[in-house]
Amino acid sequence: MRVGKDKINFSMDKNHKAVCKVKSGDSIIFETCDCFTDTIKSEDDLVSSVDFSRVNPATGPVYIEGAKKGDVLKVDIIKINVKDSGVSVAVPNMGRLGSKVEKEETLVGKIVGDKIQIGSDRLDLNKMIGVIGTAPENDPVVTGTPDYHGGNMDCKMVREGVSLYLPVNVEGALLSLGDLHACMGDGEIMGAGLEIAGEVELKVEILKDFSYKLPMIESEDAWISIGSAENMEAASDLAIANMADFLMKKKSISLNQAGILLSLAGDLRVCQIVNPNRTMRMEFPKKYL
Ligand code: CA
Ligand code: CA
Repeated sequence: MRVGKDKINFSMDKNHKAVCKVKSGDSIIFETCDCFTDTIKSEDDLVSSVDFSRVNPATGPVYIEGAKKGDVLKVDIIKINVKDSGVSVAVPNMGRLGSKVEKEETLVGKIVGDKIQIGSDRLDLNKMIGVIGTAPENDPVVTGTPDYHGGNMDCKMVREGVSLYLPVNVEGALLSLGDLHACMGDGEIMGAGLEIAGEVELKVEILKDFSYKLPMIESEDAWISIGSAENMEAASDLAIANMADFLMKKKSISLNQAGILLSLAGDLRVCQIVNPNRTMRMEFPKKYL
């Protein structure tokens, strides 16, 4: 099953018509535009030329048969392929340095093997998905905003080889995704990663017995809880509380014990501090479970 990038939305909404139906256990390929809907092609193209009602497109949504409210959608991220170049930007009043930026600028990064050539710098390729989520239960949420349903989490751990666990809030789950980055640092401080079009192959599975708080990521060596809220402290508290809950259930330990373990061996990290909600994550190594 392949979903083309002509099938995009700018919100996650239970009323969006599904572009296709798949079964639990199926693999799907999503083709994605970059976050500027592929309108910035060169260093002469500036963000001020972009129609801001058409940023952060998400391809989808895909309906997963049998998904009921209260279930959990497990998404195995099998492969992320990106195009051969992407863009990043500095824009007045965007991101953490925006108040100091006097003139907008676009830089193009070229993908060369497992590196990115941008200006005179050669960075490691670190492909990730910025926007991925299910339809929220109530009002639509624009694709630029992260929340309990996923969305614009800009978490660099949403990468090849991990499993992402998302809540099913409405029948069919209605999964959509976009906003690939060829690389991004924790924080995404200017408000953009290396924004790039591409495609993502993933496998979906409906879980009826996953009782942990979401969203959550399972990597090879860690469990990671993700919290999005209006500021970093609130987002941190959410990620921390969700990971404490996970440890209490998984290890049959008390809140105090879980808190001390997290204080000693858990890593609280920033995903992004530039979107309408901030996103933090709490990582805990599997070797201590
Ligand atoms: Ca983003
Ligand atoms: Ca982005």
